[in-house]
Amino acid sequence: MDFQKLKEEIISYSREIGIDKIGFAAADTFSELKNRLLRQQELNFQSGFEEPDIEKRVNPDLIFHEPRSIIAIALAYPSKMKNPPQSKRGERRGIFCRASWGTDYHVLLRNKLKLLEEFIKDKVPQAQVKSMVDTGELADRAVAERAGIGWSGKNCAIITPEFGSYVYLGEMITSLPLEPDKPIEEGCGTCNKCVDVCPTGALIEGGQLNAQRCIAFLTQTKGFLPDEFRSKIGNRLYGCDTCQTVCPENKGKDFHFHEEMEPDPELAKPLLTPLLNIGNREFKEKFGHVSGSWRGKKPIQRNAILAIAHFKDETALPELFGLLKHDTRPVIRGTAAWAIGKIGGGEALSELTSALAAEADEDVVHEIEKGLHMISSVK
Ligand code: SF4
Ligand code: SF4
Repeated sequence: MDFQKLKEEIISYSREIGIDKIGFAAADTFSELKNRLLRQQELNFQSGFEEPDIEKRVNPDLIFHEPRSIIAIALAYPSKMKNPPQSKRGERRGIFCRASWGTDYHVLLRNKLKLLEEFIKDKVPQAQVKSMVDTGELADRAVAERAGIGWSGKNCAIITPEFGSYVYLGEMITSLPLEPDKPIEEGCGTCNKCVDVCPTGALIEGGQLNAQRCIAFLTQTKGFLPDEFRSKIGNRLYGCDTCQTVCPENKGKDFHFHEEMEPDPELAKPLLTPLLNIGNREFKEKFGHVSGSWRGKKPIQRNAILAIAHFKDETALPELFGLLKHDTRPVIRGTAAWAIGKIGGGEALSELTSALAAEADEDVVHEIEKGLHMISSVK
């Protein structure tokens, strides 16, 4: 079998099916990554969403019988909305990060990888393949780096020379000895913009991320957001793009190759107040197809409440009072209490006072007390 020819055919087919960049890597153990992950674990910098078994993340041998190569793919996504919502006075909006615009990228990448698998199987029927996107055992970024898709920036994103870091990554382990490509030897040099601008200090020198401090991760948690991050989350409902938008490598990078990735502006930057009382069915109908909905509506609603507090939007107070009184979820009642306290005013004081008398949940009581404290300290 002429594997060089097969590699060329795979590359040319990948272009036909709309894969924007493809690279090939050896399937050896990711030894450097292992050290980095162990260090992350030691420091408790992990998000908790990743594959827990580090050996499986770094050793393709453990998840695939005799792996010979890994194919890495990248799809470029848009960084600018073509028709952003018109801002009207008094209408406050939240924001989903760019990686949550359009159809969930897991679906798009899996479809491309499936087509590629079929193509390979057609050429080499005995070929074994295993594809993954984001939630698989392997680290997408480590594979992409080794396969020459891009280099790893201090913002922990893979930066491609063509599309900047606005790329989705996926990979396929194969039993075929496809010649590896060379990693790209570029780097951030003296630039440190992303580290300097990160609102929570989540980026550590040397390209490390403390996921426990990263807003992108924090927007996905389901409990109370720790106090220190509540004023830093701004109006982000899901994810955070700050360390990508400041990156000089992303300047002017905005690609609209895939119709499915075009955002509906009303979903990518939705009005905040209607989110407070959105029903399960409506949430699913509207947001079910975007990647930012994978944790359900509660984190989005909690973040919407914090965004309203960030804007000190008094017009949303009646809805917040309603949540404080009637919502069955302590995180929502408590976050509403905190937001009411932050917005303040005479009515806020009386609503919080009566809620305090009626509330039985300890955590919510604590949040109401914080709200009352905020009001009394501005008097
Ligand atoms: Fe910091 Fe946001 Fe980047 Fe996380 S995504 S490292 S919070 S700038
Ligand atoms: Fe590297 Fe600067 Fe981009 Fe950060 S902002 S990833 S330091 S080039």
